[in-house]
Amino acid sequence: MPRLFKKIKEIRGFIRDLKCKGNSISVGFVPTMGYLHEGHLELMRRSKIQNEFTVVSIYVNPVQFGPGEDFRQYPRDLERDLALCEEVGVDAVFAPEDKEMYPEPPITKIEIPGLTDRLEGLHRPGHFNGVAIVVLKLFNIVQPDRAYFGEKDYQQLKVVERLVKDLSIPVEIVPVPTVREKDGLACSSRNVYLSPEERQSATAIYKSFLLAQKLFQSGNRDPEVIKDAIKDFLLKHPHVRKVDYVEITDDNLNPTDEVKEGDRILLALYVGNTRLIDNWRIGHEAI
Ligand code: AMP
Repeated sequence: MPRLFKKIKEIRGFIRDLKCKGNSISVGFVPTMGYLHEGHLELMRRSKIQNEFTVVSIYVNPVQFGPGEDFRQYPRDLERDLALCEEVGVDAVFAPEDKEMYPEPPITKIEIPGLTDRLEGLHRPGHFNGVAIVVLKLFNIVQPDRAYFGEKDYQQLKVVERLVKDLSIPVEIVPVPTVREKDGLACSSRNVYLSPEERQSATAIYKSFLLAQKLFQSGNRDPEVIKDAIKDFLLKHPHVRKVDYVEITDDNLNPTDEVKEGDRILLALYVGNTRLIDNWRIGHEAI
């Protein structure tokens, strides 16, 4: 079993001793909200390959959820998560209680204009402030050499990369491509909310990326045309209730007038009551 830490002081002390003992022990870190799936496990495997020691955090961060969002329902199962971490060979798990992470509600605000206020940030005000706060806290606690983030949450990856750059945080951010189920649905802890019928409809997301890819390959370069085709396609499916956004940007999330290879399609939609996000790199090969 991986060593389980619940207290900041204890994991800090442990990592400090580890680094004192070994000359060049590198620490890889995978922050998660738990209820682990293949996407998380892939991040852990990458960390295992590149580092001598791998730490996983399991913490459903209340500060990144808005009022009326799914903080309370978010699936949690620490025993199951620990067993999965053991299978992959994770060395330590940090799973703090809320009062350990936030003895008082944090009042510091972190904003990156042009990055945290668009797309997800526009639809979930305060979300990236909460993400940035927890990621910075976790970096300060674990002090990793490398940290692994999934492209599944592409905007989050860009926010973290920018924070690290702007604040000279001594950690290398390693992006990991999105892991998908056989039918193309991106692995997500929130997929457990879907009924079998909704789960079937959710495959429309991946199919819409393939449709966009086809339009691009047949010479279409107008983002509006491609975005409209995606929206129309998604909304034709039962249970797809509402599309929050479909955007096409360059790989740094800047809006684009003319679609080119390497651009990203990003979208958020509701299937039943479940809000799902996904993104696709134009030119990416289908699974
Ligand atoms: P979460 O537990 O949803 O906060 O995710 C923790 C980390 O796993 C984040 O860096 C996510 O981007 C990453 N992740 C979640 N789902 C996937 C996936 N399907 N493929 C790759 N990475 C993922």
